[in-house]
Formats: sequence, C-alpha cells, structure tokens
Amino acid sequence: MAKPVIFTIDDDPDVLRALERDLRQQYSERFRVMRASSGASALGALHQLRERRNAVALMLVDQRMPQMSGVELLEQALPLFPDAKRVLLTAYADTDAAIRAINSAHIDYYLLKPWDPPADRLYPVLDDLLDDWLASYRAPFEGVRVVGHRWSPKSFEVRDFLARHHVPYQWLDVETEPEARRLAALAATEEGGGAGAAVENGPAPQDGGAGASAGDGAGEGTGASAGDGSGGTAAVESLGTADAAVTDVAPAAGAPASAGAPGAGEVAWTPAGRLPVVFFADNSFMIEPSRAQLAERIGLRTRAESRFYDLVIVGGGPAGLAAAVYGASEGLRTLMVERDAPGGQAGTSSRIENYLGFPAGLSGAELARRAVAQAQRFGVEILNPQEATGLRREDPYRIISLSDGSEVSCHALVVATGVSYRKLAVPGIDRLTDAGVYYGAAMTEAISCKGEDVYLVGGANSAGQAAMYFSRYARRVVILVRGDSLSRGMSHYLVDQILQTPNIEVRLHASVVGVHGGETLEAIDVADSQAGTVETLPGRSLFIFIGAEPRTAWLEGVVERDEYGFLLAGSDLVRDGKLPAGWNVDRQPFLLETSVPGVFVAGDVRRGSVKRVASGVGEGSITVSFIHQHLAHI
Ligand SMILES: Cc1cc2nc3c(=O)[nH]c(=O)nc-3n(C[C@H](O)[C@H](O)[C@H](O)COP(=O)(O)OP(=O)(O)OC[C@H]3O[C@@H](n4cnc5c(N)ncnc54)[C@H](O)[C@@H]3O)c2cc1C
Repeated sequence: MAKPVIFTIDDDPDVLRALERDLRQQYSERFRVMRASSGASALGALHQLRERRNAVALMLVDQRMPQMSGVELLEQALPLFPDAKRVLLTAYADTDAAIRAINSAHIDYYLLKPWDPPADRLYPVLDDLLDDWLASYRAPFEGVRVVGHRWSPKSFEVRDFLARHHVPYQWLDVETEPEARRLAALAATEEGGGAGAAVENGPAPQDGGAGASAGDGAGEGTGASAGDGSGGTAAVESLGTADAAVTDVAPAAGAPASAGAPGAGEVAWTPAGRLPVVFFADNSFMIEPSRAQLAERIGLRTRAESRFYDLVIVGGGPAGLAAAVYGASEGLRTLMVERDAPGGQAGTSSRIENYLGFPAGLSGAELARRAVAQAQRFGVEILNPQEATGLRREDPYRIISLSDGSEVSCHALVVATGVSYRKLAVPGIDRLTDAGVYYGAAMTEAISCKGEDVYLVGGANSAGQAAMYFSRYARRVVILVRGDSLSRGMSHYLVDQILQTPNIEVRLHASVVGVHGGETLEAIDVADSQAGTVETLPGRSLFIFIGAEPRTAWLEGVVERDEYGFLLAGSDLVRDGKLPAGWNVDRQPFLLETSVPGVFVAGDVRRGSVKRVASGVGEGSITVSFIHQHLAHI
C-alpha cells in the first residue's frame, strides 16, 4: 500500500528545501514527503493523488505565496482531502489572518517561521496531528473496481467473469453511488474527447494546473488525471513513487478549462458514457473490456505455449480438472482448455454438501480454486477463456481448433464439456438476459438483490441451492415449480432446508409464460396450470434452472453422439457386435473411450452419466489410466 503523503508548499525554494529535509528526517519511514512551489502546482498534484486514491495525511503550507495564498490553497484543497490535517506556516505579521482562516480553511494549526529547532518547534505539533489523523484513517480499497450499471448485461458479464476467476473486486453502481459517477466521468474524459463527461462548477483554473493525464483513447487509460492546463504552457513532472517525488508546475496563466478535467471542477458522468469501466489497482482502466482483454489483464493465458501435448482436455469442470490433475501428476504433458472459468457448473454452486471429505460442505468456487491450484502445481497448462470449436483426426494425432483460429494437437483428448443451462422459451426473454433474467445462480447478483423479491424457476437441486443462498439477501425468494411437488426433483436435505426458511415461498404448478420490461426486467407472467390463471408479478430478478443440455455441435461428424448430443463411449459404441466406423485399432474401446480411438469422455457430457461432482471427478481420473494404455500402443 502506498504511504500516506505529507505535502509541503512554499514559494521560497530555500525554505521549501529546508522543510522537506526536516520532514523527511522525521517521517519518511511512515509517510511519503512531497513538495510544490506554488498553489497551482500543489492543487494539480493533489488532484492526481486523489485520482490515484493516495491518502494525504498533512498539508504544511506557507501563507505568503504569490497568486494563491496558503489559506486560499487550503480552502480549495479541502474538498479533495477533507480529513487531511492542515498547518499554515506564517510569519508573525500574518497570525491574525491565520486565526481568521481557522474556520474557513479548517486549519488545524499555524506554525511560526522559523521552526528551528524542529525537535522542539515542529515535530511535537506534527506528531500530534499525524497521530490524530492515523487514528481515524481507513486505508482505501486497493483492488479492482468495476464501475457500471446494475442492469447492464455488459456490467454483469464483467462482474461474473471476475468473480468466477476469483478476482476480488469492488462494485460501484452509477445509479446509486456518486463515487461511481465520478470515476466513470473520469474514464470518459481520459478516453478522449470527454464523451459522457461534463464539467460541473467548472470555472477556468486561475493559473493553470497540473496536466498529468494519460489514456490512449482506445478504451484504456491510466486513470490518473489532474487539472488540465491544456492550451497553456503548463507542464508537470509526473508523480513519482519515491519519497522525494516532486510535482512542480509552471503556471500557465489563463489556461482554459478542459472538459471534464477534475482540476477545473468536479466531473459528472452522463448516460452517454460507456460502461462498465474496470479500474485496476495501479489506477489504469479499461472501458467495456472484452473477456479476452480482461483475461490478459488479470494474467490468464489464452494461447497455448506449444503445438503438441500428450493430453488435451476440453472443459474445466470437475471432470476436466480431475483428468488434468491425474494426467499431469502421472507425467503427461497436459493442456486444459476452458471457454469460461474453471469449475464448470460446480463452480456456480453456492454450496456442495455431498462431496466426500467436506462435512460442512464447500462452495463450488472454493472447490474450483483448490483444483486449479492443484492442477497448476503439477504443471497443467490452462487456457481460458478459450473455446474448442472443432476436432479432426490425422492419425495418430487429434487436432483441436480453438476459437481464436489456432490449433493444438495431441495423442489423447478428454472431452469434459459438461452441460449448459437450457433456455426458457418465452417471447422477449433473450433481450432481458443478464439484465434481470439470469441462467444459473449468478451469485454475483445476490448482494444486489438485498431487500428485493427474487424469482427462481426450477425444481431440482440447483434451484434449491440457489434459493437457500439468495434467501440470505433477498426479502423474499419465490421458487416457481412446474410440477406438483418440490421433493420430486430435489434432494431431501434441501427440501427440508427450504421448508424451514421463512422467506422462501414455493409455488407449485407454476411456470413463467411472459416477461416485461424495457431495458431491464420489470415483471413476469406466471401461469398456474391447476387454477388456469395467469398472474403478473412485479419483479426485477428472475433466475432460471430448467435443466441442461450438452453443447457438442463442434464434434459433429467426428465423434458419435446420441440424439440429444451426449457422447457415446465404451460398450455403448458396439452395435450388433460391430465397432463404430473409423475404429482402426486392434482392440475394443475402453470404458470411457468414444468412437474415435484416443478421444475420451468424462462427466456430464457422457450419455448415461450420473450428474454429480463426485462422478465427474471419478470419470476424469479414470480416463487417465485408459490414456496410458492407449499411448503405450501408438
Ligand atoms: C447450481 C448447481 C449446483 C450443483 N450442486 C451439486 C451438488 O451439490 N452436488 C453434486 O454432486 N453435483 C451438483 N451439481 C452438478 C455438478 O455440478 C455437475 O454434475 C458437474 O459439475 C459436472 O462436471 P463436468 O466436469 O462433467 O461438467 P461441467 O461442470 O458442466 O463443466 C464443463 C466445462 O466445460 C466448459 N466447456 C464447455 N464447452 C466447451 C468448449 N467447447 N471449449 C472449452 N470449454 C468448454 C464449460 O465452460 C464448463 O466449465 C450442481 C450443478 C449446478 C449447476
């Protein structure tokens, strides 16, 4: 974390140097000491510090400076760092002015020049003030911040992506948080042209300001912006990171205010601004980043290091992760390709209670995080987000095409692509997807639903788990079940939990037949098949869990599938005693081997699989044993 700043300002270079020296001597271990030689340059630097979310603990300002007096500077700096301690350096003749300014500029102390010896006349005062400041100081959040609109699908995608990759972030909603609007406006301004930003209370700076502002206009920037002296001769030395960093500006008299420049006043976001904006810890930012851009920024790998692997696994759910851990731990050069985030469906589960060895249950995210760490420890290369889009065989190689147009080849492939949620067939629902309508648990949304009514569609365990999770935040959770009983599709323990949770309501014979809303969901039509009625219920959040289907179109014509798209394996491939067309090895297919020798299947995507975490893990592990036998004969 950056050290809090002690900022000293004096127009006399000798005095400034002496002050800086004395301050450093006493405080440089705990504070960063900065100096400026004019009010204008100090204000510019203070704006930068604020944008970078550095803390300013103390300002020590000379009263007699040309253009802007110490009191004037402290008055203008007040909104930037309201909690900083303010000390005015005065000559004896100025003490009356200093006393008068105690209220207007919130001056905590005034010191008479000279302050020698500092041990007697400077440090005791400052120590006291700094102790006071430290006692109430709370370090700002330093991680990733996402600024966006709660109902925007793009904002949802970014938050979901970060959450599923275990990147902690702070969510700032432009509708409800002034800080979010300020940051959004700042990003729009930096992006270039000030789109979406407008100046509020923006008189021209009196004498120019610091002009440190960056951003390449391509949706990325540094996020550090200061009052803009554009059009003048202002120049700024960037805020260094060392204690000795100096920010001095040559004032540009009469420089015009630049749109959105914080130095010219506060900026305000307007709905034209592009969202979401993701700010990183170093204050760089990305506007409307794609998943690939975000992935790169948070250090994920999307391109394979090599062209060939012993084993490639497509799908990073429990089955794929297990295959990866066992494969790599047994010496196979292993690549895992995941189009979304490792963890698969299990990764979206709020609490898995039946996985062996975790008597208190564990969240899917935690299981995924542990499995990824284990796989990486054994040297598995993980590509994500990256999607397998095709497969061809060039014996003995299996060649997988990826969504970025690249290819990887291998001797053995495990398809562990699981299943994905089925879509609800209701007119207009696609338009509202991720803007109030969500498939799966979308746990990132739970906190936003605080105090609201939430509707869940589905009668199986996934809906039940989600209901329990949302009940902690929502005012009321309504589970809409098409059938006549909850226990028909849900585990007994979950049904018991649901029935004992007062803010969960179960509606049987109920199905969603309509959705309403402009940009976001506003209401749903719920049909009661027993009563023959349709009721319109106001609601902003609808979560859908209505079964799942395999997405195996990319294997069409290469690997045998059943009529629903599930992959056939082992003895399922033998029909009337005959092996599948193209079977060209002198043995029967192994238990989890598909119609293509060397291509295996594990987990939910296999026909007849038991759709559970443990069975996926089991199958993923077992495939590795068969892969060794396959490789032994290549
Ligand atoms: C909300 C919820 C709660 C659940 N709770 C439990 C529980 O408590 N206990 C239990 O035992 N089971 C539970 N299940 C079921 C369990 O999660 C699944 O059975 C298990 O995740 C299946 O694992 P899998 O690896 O076969 O597939 P998945 O988990 O579906 O993983 C497949 C992965 O492959 C990726 N993928 C798909 N296509 C491609 C492609 N072309 N290229 C690259 N990647 C691709 C997907 O993005 C996904 O990450 C739950 C499921 C859900 C949805």
